[in-house]
Amino acid sequence: MEEYIAFKNGELKMPGHLAIRKEISRPLFKNKFMESLTRTGIFPPVIMHLVINATLFWYGITQLEIPVLPGIIAAVCGAIFWSFAEYNVHRYLYHTESNSRTLFNLQHNAHSIHHQHPIDPTRLAMPPLPGLVLSGFFFTIFWLINSTYVFVFFPGFMVGYMAYISLPFAQHRIKSPIYGPWESLWRHHQVHHYIDPYIAFGVSTRFWDFVFHTMPKKQSK
Ligand SMILES: [Zn+2]
Ligand SMILES: [Zn+2]
Repeated sequence: MEEYIAFKNGELKMPGHLAIRKEISRPLFKNKFMESLTRTGIFPPVIMHLVINATLFWYGITQLEIPVLPGIIAAVCGAIFWSFAEYNVHRYLYHTESNSRTLFNLQHNAHSIHHQHPIDPTRLAMPPLPGLVLSGFFFTIFWLINSTYVFVFFPGFMVGYMAYISLPFAQHRIKSPIYGPWESLWRHHQVHHYIDPYIAFGVSTRFWDFVFHTMPKKQSK
């Protein structure tokens, strides 16, 4: 980690709302039922989305007779579109500073809580019920654009989402693999958490950080 410039040579202080806390986890609600709606293990949402989207893809190919190759290309486009959306939501929604209390609360519940308690495994993914509602909303938007190819594009989009929720689970809890690109991706997320939260926004890929010039800068020796 030391080869990256830490806090832009002392100019940047870690903002309080993103600073890591001592406790592994902290409740968002006093009410136990409400609190239970904010937490999930990683496997229930991943299995749910996997089953739903494998079914959608199967339906598109077998029932709507979308040819396999265009179907796969559309799914890859869906995954690329997810990674673009992931970068922009992380950078411009979760890490935009504003005086709006509403935005601050949304950022806190959706993302800052992960910065404060990064190894809490129950706050990495949206629980199944709200996850179903939100993914249904996005499916509807894509369906309005193309009611056939949505059945292959959307599963690719959701593979991107599954990578987005699964990778931090591994990145915070498992030592980075030796294999080069994976190690770089692991380190990229660590830089975002522990060195500068205003760079390295990509979680499932570093590509958009290259494109938009938010890659961590190496220390010149
Ligand atoms: Zn993280
Ligand atoms: Zn962040």
